Amino acid sequence: MTITARSSRIEPGPSLPEPPRPGRISLFADLDGTLAPLEITPDRVGPDPARRRLLDELEVALDGRMAVVSGRTLEDLDRVLEGRVRALGAVHGLIRRTADGRVIEARGLERMGEALEAVRAFAKDDRLLLVENKGAAIALHYRRRPAAAAACLALAREVGARLDLAVQEGDMVVELRPRGPDKGAAVAAFMSEPPFAGFKPVFIGDDLTDEDGFRAAQQLGGYGVIVGPRRPTVARYALPSIAAARAWLQEALKAVR
Ligand SMILES: [Mg+2]
Repeated sequence: MTITARSSRIEPGPSLPEPPRPGRISLFADLDGTLAPLEITPDRVGPDPARRRLLDELEVALDGRMAVVSGRTLEDLDRVLEGRVRALGAVHGLIRRTADGRVIEARGLERMGEALEAVRAFAKDDRLLLVENKGAAIALHYRRRPAAAAACLALAREVGARLDLAVQEGDMVVELRPRGPDKGAAVAAFMSEPPFAGFKPVFIGDDLTDEDGFRAAQQLGGYGVIVGPRRPTVARYALPSIAAARAWLQEALKAVR
């Protein structure tokens, strides 16, 4: 049980999960803040031997029923994951690569060029603001300029309203993207296909956008696991840190060794 500071109401918080049984689940995992540490800029996150070993072992134990679902692009995910994970939900679910390698993209990307111009014009005089063009989404990162948070959010909302784009707030980042599939829709789509279909979906993540993934997993008979302290959440379970998330997945692998 946790007591929320704002209202003093007592609410049931998510509890620590038992390690999952790899033979029964399909695993969906966010990358940054879940399997990888949060860095000051996204390109600081690179390949990591310990993570690669963990992913390789999971891929075998799960018989391929593992997808990484992230805000990053497909190309960037392949870079960080060294091409080891076939099934990917990229750009928060707007682009999906299936377990058999098909790439499925959302429609409505034609307004993104105009949005990119507006965001670049806004950020051009401040070298600490980072504009990331993901093709299917534009991210404005202000981790190195936290004082600009309100101005960045206001700009994103103005451009979003003008061009009918969705505004997605993240951890020191705001994104513009077409209204379309989210991480939950990506989970549902994977769960309708082999090799994922017929197993219990487990979604582990830390982002606001992971809430859609938690909800979808739970609606499909599985559960969500939030990593870190962000609340509120719809996830049924929680792990306190990235280290705890890795340990939890390692523990699951022991059952199949
Ligand atoms: Mg994350």
